[in-house]
Amino acid sequence: MWDETGAIRKDPGGRLNIALVYPNTYWVGMSNLGLHTMYRVFNDHPSIVCERFFTDSPRSVESSRHLNDFHIIAFSVSYELDWINMIRILLDNRIPVRREDRRGSPIVMAGGAAATINPEPVAEALDFCFLGEGEPLGDALADAFFASNGYRGFLERLAKVPGIYLPEQTRPVYEGERIRGFEGSRPVISVVRPFDNPGHSVILTDKTVFQDMFLTEIARGCPFNCRFCTAREIYSPFRPVEVDRLLPVLDRAARSGKKLGLVSTSLNNHPRLTRLLEEIDARGLKIAPPSLRLGMISEELLAYMKASRVNEVTLAPEVGSDTLRAALGKRVSGEEILKDVISLVRSGIRDIKLYFMVGLPGEEQKDIDDLIDLVKRIRQTFIQVSRGNRRIGRVSVSINTMVPKPHSRYERAALLEPGEAKKRITKIVKGLKSQSNVIVSFEGPKWAYIQALIARGDRRVLDVLTEMAAHDPSKWQEVLRSWPRNPDYYALREREPDEILPWSFYSHFERDQCRDGEEG
Ligand code: SF4
Repeated sequence: MWDETGAIRKDPGGRLNIALVYPNTYWVGMSNLGLHTMYRVFNDHPSIVCERFFTDSPRSVESSRHLNDFHIIAFSVSYELDWINMIRILLDNRIPVRREDRRGSPIVMAGGAAATINPEPVAEALDFCFLGEGEPLGDALADAFFASNGYRGFLERLAKVPGIYLPEQTRPVYEGERIRGFEGSRPVISVVRPFDNPGHSVILTDKTVFQDMFLTEIARGCPFNCRFCTAREIYSPFRPVEVDRLLPVLDRAARSGKKLGLVSTSLNNHPRLTRLLEEIDARGLKIAPPSLRLGMISEELLAYMKASRVNEVTLAPEVGSDTLRAALGKRVSGEEILKDVISLVRSGIRDIKLYFMVGLPGEEQKDIDDLIDLVKRIRQTFIQVSRGNRRIGRVSVSINTMVPKPHSRYERAALLEPGEAKKRITKIVKGLKSQSNVIVSFEGPKWAYIQALIARGDRRVLDVLTEMAAHDPSKWQEVLRSWPRNPDYYALREREPDEILPWSFYSHFERDQCRDGEEG
């Protein structure tokens, strides 16, 4: 049905059966490298059989089995809004949402970026959660499953594994609305070191976002420190993959006949970029670069992108003003951005996608004017340089409201009120309306509001998530209105400097060691 190659089918008999569920569509999920990695990790284990589920594949892709046929239901969750889909999947399969109502059968777990950033909104739904990098999970689950003879014994064995979080063993203590402290155990985030087994596409299909790419992870973590970002925080330290370790993956990519989709927060910072590009070139692979770090686009990379006929790149100036950009941790000026645009267009780039945000702490109306002005300058430069090319391309501008995320430097910041966010976005849209070759898109600020509510939620948020999952998605505002709690308390509010945050009971040891004194 899905027209794919690379799916793994194993006899489920005598094995630990894991349902790997991506709580979104097949189209979205199959471009998620984390899903490919966990599918490979689980199925590489001789005692595990792992099959995939999506919102539009309620039975397993591999064998059409039901969720209830599996010992463990493992949700891979990258985005907070997908927690609602996770609960909807449980409801649709008549699986009790709350852990206490399931009594160990089936076992429901979650991992992935959203789970690592803050698992608390769904903590009462999960038997366990995996925080951080999931590669050790296959061995840990198989060992605990086959060495124990029941649910309790299984969890007890798992509890010793770094990254495993058992919500029933950690209890937030509330005082009124606020959390006064935590009782019980304190998990840590799993970090894979050495990082020498990079993620890559396992199953190839044309029915996904990155359908023309073979995805390959060339580094994990990020050397920069943008204040709004969690990528740096939860996946530190920055670990480029040794080129020799990438060679077998490059060979597979070459055999796939697809472009090589390089996955990294910072391609420009791979310490052996020259050698890596040579090896890619030697295999005749074309590349699809990730978002490029502004101010650091080298001649060498430009030349390779030209040879690969890359015709679109993504850049993230984030804001229009240099001062605000520096304040959020990106020390690159508008002039440097324009220089990069010139270099990119000269090396054959036809279309440029720009990411911007509104609602950053300290943002003023002037910053919105600066954003409009920067896009106009980029467009003007882009068109001038493009005249030498056969076709003048597009500048696509994507605007999002900044959602303060747990573990980022802005984790305590207020969310810009949706009405004000809408005004600022509307001003940008109007300001750029008459600009030819510029296309503006944005995410509705109300989605940022829901995202913020969930992202910084505590265990009391599960009730409203369950109600949202049980109702038509268009009814979310009514559901929020009927919730006895105040959603603004979670979504909008700036947190007090001494307030104990719902996710503050677990930590990332290495990050805490190295965060002071660094800058983006
Ligand atoms: S460069 Fe900044 S935004 Fe990008 S991953 Fe690194 S810290 Fe995050």
